[in-house]
Amino acid sequence: MHFTDLKSQYTALKSDIDAAIQRVLDHGQYIMGPEVAQLEAALAARTGVAHCVTVSSGTEALLIALMALGIGPGDEVITSPFTFVATGEVIALLGAVPVYVDIEPDTCNLDARLLEAAITPRTRAILPVSLYGQVADMDAINAVAARHGLPVVEDAAQSYGARYGSRQSCGVSTIGCTSFFPSKPLGCYGDGGALFTDDAGLAQAAREIRVHGQSARYHHTRVGVGGRMDTLQCAVVLAKLPRFDWELARRQALGVRYAALIQAQLIDAGLPLALPVVRADRDCVWAQYTVKLPNREAVQAALKARGIPTAVHYPKPLHLQPAYAAGHDPAAHPHSLAAAATVMSLPMSADLSEADQDRVVAALGEALRETAA
Ligand SMILES: *Cc1c(COP(=O)(O)O)cnc(C)c1O
Repeated sequence: MHFTDLKSQYTALKSDIDAAIQRVLDHGQYIMGPEVAQLEAALAARTGVAHCVTVSSGTEALLIALMALGIGPGDEVITSPFTFVATGEVIALLGAVPVYVDIEPDTCNLDARLLEAAITPRTRAILPVSLYGQVADMDAINAVAARHGLPVVEDAAQSYGARYGSRQSCGVSTIGCTSFFPSKPLGCYGDGGALFTDDAGLAQAAREIRVHGQSARYHHTRVGVGGRMDTLQCAVVLAKLPRFDWELARRQALGVRYAALIQAQLIDAGLPLALPVVRADRDCVWAQYTVKLPNREAVQAALKARGIPTAVHYPKPLHLQPAYAAGHDPAAHPHSLAAAATVMSLPMSADLSEADQDRVVAALGEALRETAA
């Protein structure tokens, strides 16, 4: 069993993806070819946002978003410590200071109630993460941001396609940033990403920054990066889009099914396990299906022995990472610490079969019983 089954997805889309790649090889416009603008238009439309700018990765999307907002040395950016390192990395790369705010223990997303107290005169932006594929509490976060005149950047690397009320992830903040890393809900066959905004000025800035701050050929108005997404990768995502709504529905059905099976077979049987929580006003695209449990390493080993791959997203919060810990109290953010010690992600992808999902849950029950003994 694969943790993420990309092979079945390719098999289902093989003729479309092969043809899309062949078209790029035939026209030969490997950089900024027509598929780039086609993908941007398609994604902007399906997200309900005015502008989409594709970039070379999710990390680059975050970096370019902060650069477009003018974040620089000494500025403070508030974010969650319980995330993939890229979220904090881009803040540090710009010489800015990540200010961590703890997560809600049930959703593992930034706790908006703690936000106000973290704002200082140096705060320049708020960077919440929509972890595991569920949008963070954006209404509450946006309300605090508006009171202080701050922009909000959603790290939506895991949540593209997720619904938040009547809006979509990437369309709920000043700028939304996603990733097309192969294992994300909408992946390409290499690195890729995109940022989304309704602000024409920020979109223009992002377009310039991704090509070395160039506003006209060899005329560099601002400092930028080499951050374009390849035409080939755009063509792959374009070819995947027609199946994406089916994949989202399938992921949601598998999420519901995981919850029902785990509740009935494991939790109701008294096994120590907590399910992920999804708020009523939004859904989750399950970039990861992540449960919480004690004895994690032993359970992972017992599952591995049964052929079930698992992963930990993430074992160490940013305020404990050597490169990002300076000036931060290692005992701070108790919910992030607790989550890091107990989270475990189960196999999840649109092409996970129900039979394999049954096997995962059965093996998890055996592993929990074996390691409790
Ligand atoms: C994957 C991920 C990123 C980085 O995306 P890449 O495309 O791998 O650069 C950033 N933030 C979060 C939360 C992620 O999961």
